Amino acid sequence: MSRILLLIDPSPARETVTEALRRAEQTPVDAPDGWKDDAWLVERVAEAEPDVVVLDAEQGLDLALRRCRKLMNARATCFVPAVVVLPDAPDPELVTRVFNAGARDLLWLGEPLDLLGARIDNMARLNYLRRTFRRQNDALAARTAELDQVFETATTGLAIADETGHVIRLNATGRAILGDHASPSDLYQLTREDSTRLEDRKHPLRRAVTCGEASSARRYLLPADDGDRVIVLEAVPLEAPGGRLTGGLAVFRDDTETWALESSLRDNARDLARRTDEMEAFVYTAAHDMKSPLWMIRRYAETILEDDAGLAEESRRFLGRVEINAERLGNLVEDLVQVVKVGKLELHLDACDLGAVMRAVLSELDGQIQEAGATVVVADDLPTVFADFDRLLDVFGNLVSNAVKYRRPDVPCRIEIGQLADQRRGHIFVRDNGIGVHDDHHKRIFQLFHRLHTRDQIEGSGLGLAIVTRIVQRHGGRVWVESSPGEGSTFHVHLPLQSEPPT
Ligand code: ADP
Repeated sequence: MSRILLLIDPSPARETVTEALRRAEQTPVDAPDGWKDDAWLVERVAEAEPDVVVLDAEQGLDLALRRCRKLMNARATCFVPAVVVLPDAPDPELVTRVFNAGARDLLWLGEPLDLLGARIDNMARLNYLRRTFRRQNDALAARTAELDQVFETATTGLAIADETGHVIRLNATGRAILGDHASPSDLYQLTREDSTRLEDRKHPLRRAVTCGEASSARRYLLPADDGDRVIVLEAVPLEAPGGRLTGGLAVFRDDTETWALESSLRDNARDLARRTDEMEAFVYTAAHDMKSPLWMIRRYAETILEDDAGLAEESRRFLGRVEINAERLGNLVEDLVQVVKVGKLELHLDACDLGAVMRAVLSELDGQIQEAGATVVVADDLPTVFADFDRLLDVFGNLVSNAVKYRRPDVPCRIEIGQLADQRRGHIFVRDNGIGVHDDHHKRIFQLFHRLHTRDQIEGSGLGLAIVTRIVQRHGGRVWVESSPGEGSTFHVHLPLQSEPPT
């Protein structure tokens, strides 16, 4: 609400003015104490933040005009209109003096009260509007300054285009990205990542400005003297409050280093894949070629031993060793061939009843299970998964065989196969009460050749779990172990329930 400040001592004139203002539904306020002292006048009036100051000439016109002049000359009060109230109708010379003193209006007490009140009230309202407008303007200027600072110091490049697409502002990061000698319009020199020139109308900033279309962040090339720079840029339209397009904002950053890193990583990955392929092909061929000489060594050793043609005891022992080691080597070669094959094999995916898989596995391992005196309990609610039946035989064959192999000598071996509830995938476990695996090895036992025992302790190649992992991963699943030494192990396997694309 507007505020009217009376710089008038209690007097009939003051009562008249107060009554006139009451009629205009205004209640004037008194100036804070001390206003009469010239030294304090400006300060007291400024404190009261009035929209109009009313002075009267009852104590002498000169005094009133001096005060008026003082207020009009001070920075803090010069915008507050002053009204001088005169006891009688003024003559032209008086009018001139009053206005020369800076008063905005003058009134005399003989005027109709309604008119008197309305004139002061109007002036107060007008100034109130002006004051409010000025306050809002100051707030707006402060916010604009803040936004300017945010714009200028942002760590991403920012560019503003006007409604014609002309880039009118670029922040410091933007200038740094475009380079010292670049002009803002160089932002339109982008080409697509494959180096084809970006048609002008397809430039994200142009689309934002002309069609009001926002674009998502994409990589572009920006030609530069020292080689193309890679820029990630997105653009959004800028709209006035009514929705009218006023321009566009481009947000961009220099991605050259990341891009270079990625492409060198891609090259390395390609190189690695090629070398792995070569290595696997080599292992496969070498292992394959070793099969028949190994078979022959075994056969010869067996035949000589069977012949029993007066062999010395020591020679029989050596030949026995040859036979055993040739067999071990043969198994290792078989496993190696399988590891390589698993990565290349075409999977025959179909609905596989895991109950049937387990029956086949147990029948295959029957001899080993009997020999170990192991008990195997298979849950009767195993799920049907979407997988390659033969490969599942490899997976669960390895897991069950390990469960038997790594049993504790002093505890009857017990193996449990079941499922855990999971809506999204098959979750099968193979649990044993064997020797268990220490935490440190939970991940490593799935790597190639990682064994925790020597061959003399427990026979094995260290490839079984690596084969299991590869098969499960090719089905888009996961395998892991929970185990503690002396407490047995639980191997968990995730397999897809639906026809999901294998990885
Ligand atoms: P291998 O059995 O031929 O050594 P694997 O890859 O099948 O190779 O297993 C790797 C290692 O993981 C084994 O040498 C063994 O130390 C450990 N391991 C695997 N299964 C079990 C299990 N059920 N209980 C305890 N240790 C196990």
